[in-house]
Amino acid sequence: SDVLKIVDLHVSINDKPILRGVNLEMKRGETHALMGPNGSGKSTLGLVIMGHPNYEVTSGQILLNGEDVTDMEPNERARAGLFMAFQRPVAIPGVRMADFLRHATTNVRNPDRKEGEDLIPMREFRKEIKENMEQLQMDSEFARRYVNDGFSGGEMKRAEILQLAMLQPKFAILDETDSGLDADAVRLASQSINEIGHNKMGLLIITHHDKLLEHNPPNFTHVILGGKIVETGGKELAEELHEKGYERIRAQYPEAA
Ligand code: ADP
Ligand code: MG
Ligand code: MG
Repeated sequence: SDVLKIVDLHVSINDKPILRGVNLEMKRGETHALMGPNGSGKSTLGLVIMGHPNYEVTSGQILLNGEDVTDMEPNERARAGLFMAFQRPVAIPGVRMADFLRHATTNVRNPDRKEGEDLIPMREFRKEIKENMEQLQMDSEFARRYVNDGFSGGEMKRAEILQLAMLQPKFAILDETDSGLDADAVRLASQSINEIGHNKMGLLIITHHDKLLEHNPPNFTHVILGGKIVETGGKELAEELHEKGYERIRAQYPEAA
């Protein structure tokens, strides 16, 4: 099966070291929770895996099925099967969800397509988006709205989940930290993620909501502190941290904190 492997990854931003030797291995079909106090490097890790230009990899590697993707452009990574939901998605007024998704889906599926060449045939695309929206219990009207334009937090989440369902990446990174969803929206999102993602992709979930992990129980929980993964466990570790916070972790790994 597909494997995403992070090897001794060191990352700086403006010459300030943020990640200090991260190792992580995920197989497709597994769910991993990434937890840690604010500022410990969770979002940085996700953004670096996706190739965000602000972050400099000073050493280490990101390997997808053994292939080094550390220096790939973000769109190449998307084609290779990596997906990240952004914490603060960008609005694209004038571009409807359906058109955006048709382009994104075409780009991921036909990596050799040149600019100006055909998109996925409309009939095929319509059928697929309709099936996905029905499964996710989304109103078909949603596909006609402009991307993220005036979307509520819950609607942004749904847009992201629809994207995930259409693109079917090998690995998806979901950074939930600041999403500001109410309890119902979180429940809906977590059920949907479970429906489309279960057993099909590798999920790296960065979250403070125990609801999300309740519907998507992690096979592994990683705790990051001061830019290092200091502990890895099962779902009981996520439960412990949700209940009791990071006091034990900070006390146990003072050199990282
Ligand atoms: P987390 O997601 O765990 O809260 P982040 O990855 O967002 O942590 O941040 C890790 C550290 O990197 C923090 O100290 C943060 O201030 C710093 N950092 C992140 N992004 C930037 C940036 N664009 N410029 C400067 N410092 C940053
Ligand atoms: Mg933060
Ligand atoms: Mg964050």
